[in-house]
Amino acid sequence: MNTEINISLPCEINEILTRIMEHGGEAYIVGGAIRDALLGRPINDWDIATSLKPDDIERLFSHTRTISVGKKYGTVIVIMNGKPIQVTTYRGEGEYLDFRRPNRVVFLSDIADDLARRDFTVNAMAYNPYLTPAFIDPFGGVVDITKRTIRTVGSPGERFSEDPLRILRGIRFSAELSFELDSKAMEAARTYGRLLSQISFERIRDELNRILLVSDPFYPLMMLHQLGLFKIILPDLWQYYGHSTALSCSFRDGFHLAIKAVSLCRSDIILRLAALYCLNNINKLIWADTSGPINIQAAGCFAKAAELSLKRLRYDGATTRRVLSLVTSSPLPLNLKEAEAAYHLRKIIGKIGQADTYRLLELEQAYLSAAGQQQGVKCIRRYTNIVNEIISRGDPVTMSQMAINGNDVLGIGIGTKDKRIIGKALNQAYEWVLMDPECNDKQQLLSRLKAVFRQMRT
Ligand code: ATP
Ligand code: MG
Repeated sequence: MNTEINISLPCEINEILTRIMEHGGEAYIVGGAIRDALLGRPINDWDIATSLKPDDIERLFSHTRTISVGKKYGTVIVIMNGKPIQVTTYRGEGEYLDFRRPNRVVFLSDIADDLARRDFTVNAMAYNPYLTPAFIDPFGGVVDITKRTIRTVGSPGERFSEDPLRILRGIRFSAELSFELDSKAMEAARTYGRLLSQISFERIRDELNRILLVSDPFYPLMMLHQLGLFKIILPDLWQYYGHSTALSCSFRDGFHLAIKAVSLCRSDIILRLAALYCLNNINKLIWADTSGPINIQAAGCFAKAAELSLKRLRYDGATTRRVLSLVTSSPLPLNLKEAEAAYHLRKIIGKIGQADTYRLLELEQAYLSAAGQQQGVKCIRRYTNIVNEIISRGDPVTMSQMAINGNDVLGIGIGTKDKRIIGKALNQAYEWVLMDPECNDKQQLLSRLKAVFRQMRT
């Protein structure tokens, strides 16, 4: 089988391999690149493992740029033709004391030992066409690729307890590749999943993102649910999600609906996170008519829980803000008449922008179709057409697009005594413009304001 493996290498990789060998070292391509090449999938990043030490690699590639942030752990990034390539010294790992990184790294001289510390068999193969054997697969990675199985290198219990993030990685790989997580690994994931509470939320977040972005995240999210891992990943939301629903509803709990909705949204992190966090929609669609965990007036609690959770997972400010703006703009009121809907939608575009308004519509449609509410879906399609029209006509949607500003208001004597009245007047004019974009005319707006605010003029 080994002789049949033939992976075509980019010239930068060839150059690194040959240069290392010319200088007495050994080097192999390792990890995801081989797995993806064997599967005929696009290759994201090429990782090289070598017998040479980081100092030697730096010296060998001093003619091109190198980055040495991971040098302590054996990794030097070689920038070749502008592409970053990780070159890592064969290594083994000491004890995992804090579940973050092994407490020490030992450099090794044998590629087989390096492959033994890797997480899954499909990630533990090595290839170098200039060496014999060219292909090294000590743990049966090729067989597992043929069987479409994600299996740990060695005992899953040991590997997961060393680094519980591997549980999420296993679920993620099985979803990305459409492989099965092998039954022993599943069992170990159930046993050791609680250890995820010991690892950093940043690492969890990165894996959660990748799980959310797979083309169909329904099964991996369901797996997280069934393994009881959401309790650990999203502790702030768990208390709400777990609430069971009325028997008449086809969803056992909020999670089932949320997960279905997430998978109906396109692969976009803001959108899919918003779908995962959209307790308001779950409340409206399945809890509100029952003895829900919280009544609808208390929607502020949901927003607070979502914010806490996003912050706990250390999402950056922009992501947190955008997800929250979708979550708090949802659910949209359904069955509004044309003019009322246009008013409402203009206001939303003004608040969250065009791109996120389309995301909001997609989010709503996903929830309604997940809950089987076809009339609602139709209504959202109608709203989407209204948004298209608003945008193509160029209707004013923000205060700054109004034909008047604070100075104009002051110029007609409104707010000379109390400046706060200027803001009130502008808000009033903004409401008129949102209701009827045709009235965004300086003279018209000022004369209407004069009439309304006459009693307040100086
Ligand atoms: P992708 O880049 O598509 O996520 P990958 O397999 O390249 O897939 P990386 O996270 O880039 O994954 O890691 C590169 C390799 O390092 C893996 O293939 C695996 O061999 C090893 N590896 C990464 N993380 C771990 C871990 N937590 N435990 C053990 N081995 C790991
Ligand atoms: Mg990679």
